[in-house]
Amino acid sequence: MTAVDLGVPRLRRPGPAGAAAGLPGDRPATPDLVDRHGRTARDLRVSLTDRCNLRCHYCMPPEGLPWLDRADVLTDDEVVRLVRLAVRDLGVHEVRFTGGEPLLRKGLEDIVAATTRLRTPAGDPVRASLTTNGIGLARRAAALAGAGLTRVNVSLDTLHPDRFAAITRRDRHTDVLAGLEAAAAAGLAPVKVNAVLLRGTNDDEATDLLRWALAAGYRLRFIEQMPLDPHGSWQRSQMVTADEILAALHREFHLRPRPGTARGAAPAETWDVVAGDGTVLGDVGVIASVTRPFCGDCDRTRLTADGQVRTCLFSTSETDLRDALRSGADDAALADRWRTAMWGKLPGHDIDDPGFLHPTRPMSAIGG
Ligand code: SAM
Ligand code: SF4
Repeated sequence: MTAVDLGVPRLRRPGPAGAAAGLPGDRPATPDLVDRHGRTARDLRVSLTDRCNLRCHYCMPPEGLPWLDRADVLTDDEVVRLVRLAVRDLGVHEVRFTGGEPLLRKGLEDIVAATTRLRTPAGDPVRASLTTNGIGLARRAAALAGAGLTRVNVSLDTLHPDRFAAITRRDRHTDVLAGLEAAAAAGLAPVKVNAVLLRGTNDDEATDLLRWALAAGYRLRFIEQMPLDPHGSWQRSQMVTADEILAALHREFHLRPRPGTARGAAPAETWDVVAGDGTVLGDVGVIASVTRPFCGDCDRTRLTADGQVRTCLFSTSETDLRDALRSGADDAALADRWRTAMWGKLPGHDIDDPGFLHPTRPMSAIGG
């Protein structure tokens, strides 16, 4: 049995050696967002709001959550300044906007356009993508593509409108399907679909969802349910595991591990779906954050809507950039704070450990 089977985060080589004079702790003098465990963050997740127009019961209570005060949320200009800093000074190559529901952010197209105008120090364009519940995407997909957005992940857990209404507490299934179609028509390809399977609710839909996604040309990604609900009701024993999902898929489909794609920092383990004559019909991924954590290869850094750096979804501490920025800190000082935060990134999330501490912010307030 391997460390991965056991759910033990894999660690790469130890961090760069050598303390640099004047830097906090033993942090090395590199511009990039490195940590003590040999990882470098290149992928920035930016939450643009903690609010949402759905109430997925594994994510939000029916009444919603105590929302952030609007004054505490970064303005569009502040978001763009921090994204620019990350790309220009900290080695970030890829930016994904999320939330809450990022389509609720009026300035989204402008923020995307400002992001895609950025270039890395090597002159490469920045890849900008979006994770959304798809409501309102039908109206905005073309404008987002025009702003330079390259990819979109749309969350859809079920093909049944009544189940959708039960899971999300809103009757908006048709809007999500329209959003998906508009995203594909706008060229935001490949359109990915994120699905969380919930025991006793939609855990019989793995094959139906895949059949539908293949027919529509979407790339389906199942996500294991993580302990990030606001009410702390997640139970390991109730979670639908990656193994269960794959076993269900194997009963109907021939799945072949995607050749030459070591998982690396990409969280999905990807399989080609192969027809009897060997034709590849599409692919499917399973993001097994709980049962097969990929912490050892994580290349992410996160910025919350209120301007806090989080090194991990499961961090129990954050580093403020908003107040520093509003008190006049210059880019060099902000960059230094961000680097110090990342240097302290923990090796793994330890969800499977009995001593696991539930983060105080729920998923919607961190940015999934
Ligand atoms: N509102 C947008 C959406 O639903 O795509 C973006 C934010 S949402 C937090 C991002 C993704 O996280 C969605 O695919 C959602 O299904 C997933 N998610 C939410 N809570 C989760 C949990 N406890 N475990 C695993 N995935 C979760
Ligand atoms: Fe909203 Fe996304 Fe959470 Fe559902 S998963 S309540 S759409 S933030």
